[in-house]
Amino acid sequence: MKNIFRIMIAATVLAGCSVSKPHYESVDDYPVKSGSVQEVKYSPTATRFSLWSPNADSVRLSIYASAEAVEPECTQWLKRQKDGSWQGTMRGDMQGKYYSFRVWDPRMQYEPEETPGIFATAVGVNGRRGAIIDMRSTDPEWWSNDCRPAMDKVADAIIYELHHRDYSIDPSSGVQHRGKFLALTEHGTVSPEGLATGIDHLKQLGVTHVQILPSYDYGSIDETRLHDNRYNWGYDPINYNVPEGSYSTDPYDPTSRIREFKQMVQALHKAGIRVILDVVYNHTYDVAHSNFTQTVPRYFYRTREDGSLGNASGCGNETASERPMMQQFMLESVRWWVEEYHIDGFRFDLMAIHDISTMNAIRAMLDEIDPTILLYGEGWAAETPQLEEALRPIKANIAAMPGIGAFSDELRDALRGPFYDDHQGAFLAGLPGHEQSIRFGIVGAIEHPQVDMTKVNYSNRPWALQPTQLISYVSCHDDMMLTDRLRASVKPADSKKSVIGDDELMRLDMLAQTVVLTSQGLPFLWNGEELMRDKKGVHNSYCSPDSINAIDWHLKARNQRLCDYYAGLIALRKAHPAFRLGDAELVREHLEFIDSADGVVAFCLKDHAGGDAWRNIVVIANANRESVKVSLPDDESYTAVVANGQVNTDGLYKCEKTAVVAAQSAMILHN
Ligand code: CA
Repeated sequence: MKNIFRIMIAATVLAGCSVSKPHYESVDDYPVKSGSVQEVKYSPTATRFSLWSPNADSVRLSIYASAEAVEPECTQWLKRQKDGSWQGTMRGDMQGKYYSFRVWDPRMQYEPEETPGIFATAVGVNGRRGAIIDMRSTDPEWWSNDCRPAMDKVADAIIYELHHRDYSIDPSSGVQHRGKFLALTEHGTVSPEGLATGIDHLKQLGVTHVQILPSYDYGSIDETRLHDNRYNWGYDPINYNVPEGSYSTDPYDPTSRIREFKQMVQALHKAGIRVILDVVYNHTYDVAHSNFTQTVPRYFYRTREDGSLGNASGCGNETASERPMMQQFMLESVRWWVEEYHIDGFRFDLMAIHDISTMNAIRAMLDEIDPTILLYGEGWAAETPQLEEALRPIKANIAAMPGIGAFSDELRDALRGPFYDDHQGAFLAGLPGHEQSIRFGIVGAIEHPQVDMTKVNYSNRPWALQPTQLISYVSCHDDMMLTDRLRASVKPADSKKSVIGDDELMRLDMLAQTVVLTSQGLPFLWNGEELMRDKKGVHNSYCSPDSINAIDWHLKARNQRLCDYYAGLIALRKAHPAFRLGDAELVREHLEFIDSADGVVAFCLKDHAGGDAWRNIVVIANANRESVKVSLPDDESYTAVVANGQVNTDGLYKCEKTAVVAAQSAMILHN
């Protein structure tokens, strides 16, 4: 402690401040940095540094030859500016050097440590030091020609959530760069049975977007020990504006993670697939060592009245988006990913921890760049945030955030059962009482005269202005795989058996995703559901080994029928605008529910909805263990295009006046 005190005095003298330090009663009095939050501006003749830290007594910049060097090559005391930032310049070409800051601030409750600042754009191994590079040197060939795949409107999106390691780490993926960004650049990869894997599998499925699990630099994988083959989802951010090193081929080379990430985006774009980033601005890996704390202690986190840290993330802290510099940080970070990495959408983890005006500011900024850039998130938090409810971007407040979507736990849980009990089933288990919640999901959480809100599970009023604000899904990385969940929650008809058989499992999987893919919300699928993958019943696999998380691509040959069914439904949705009207008025005008028995949800998209070539489209989901008869609208003759696990848009067979829907299956017909 004594040593630190001596250093602090020395530092104050050496800094030679041209501006004296004002007194700040609290962090809320801090001035806002003028210009960019980014700390480093490189040019071949000089590199300029600018770190925002208003209450610091001194800030020292150190330059290193490598990310792990013990001693710096040189240091410089930065100069305080009126806007609370500290500036300095290093002359000459600094490309290839590493840097860190050390901040002495009386509000710091921890040891001052090296930090690359809050907005490093390149880092060394494990992200502890920043790297000075020319960002243009990281661009793959033809990067300036890379462009977003065409998309007319947001309602056209079909999202596939994917974890880099899940997707390609198993040798059965046939991929060379297994578990890496580059895995998604390899064409022609096949499973041992010769079926497409990797990026070709995505093309085959026909999804329009991939949502990649956290891919910024996170803390839980030691990048110096990749041979340990550790797994993590990555919800533990370190550097928000740099790709994660363990997904690169060389985490020691600061340019490789950046270039390879861009190559991945470029390859997906060429394949016609847009890329959504999962962003976790709501908390950091830890507090004492975080770049936020080490740069401006206490500013970026919310505290309770007693001074202790808020914990809405359930991870020990929550950030404070309502503070101007945190908001500016988030805006600039999102812009960085769009402009530097050509990202096409954002999924906000625990979005409800942030505040409505920050989310709206991000939407407004994205609208100026391209209104089809997707923005949605989780409309809930792990614990109650330290911010009044009216300001929070919770699901119930989505109407105050046009153009921003939220995941629908109403639809998810009405299908598979509640999040709090893996062994409790719902619609898919053949239990009655979930039909209205499913209707709510099908219309996209908007007001609709045929949705009885008194019978909807979690919401007592519609929360979306437009149907595209609802993310329609039955499973994601959280919780059990659909297969595991159905095994845990659906009682077998044969009382001698403990779990349902694979045949029934596949039927229910198809039924669930038919509801998801015919919802007026944005459909969302979790990687491997189309292969009937399981996670051996593990519910929270965030750090489980590959043996739990990796996709075994042998499954594709085994469950080809299921995979074809997903692809068939996706093609059907893409070919028929009635399924993606994108407008609440149109949905109310054209989507009519058909009265049906318990365990059945049926609706008609009538009168060439959305300009559809088909006049009426009828969708029927039957979760009962017996077939059901449903009277078809206007007593007319219809052509079945989806029935009993088959999809054929040319038509499977004709139905006169009534449709007989097989047990635990969905049917789609048109006339
Ligand atoms: Ca990392």
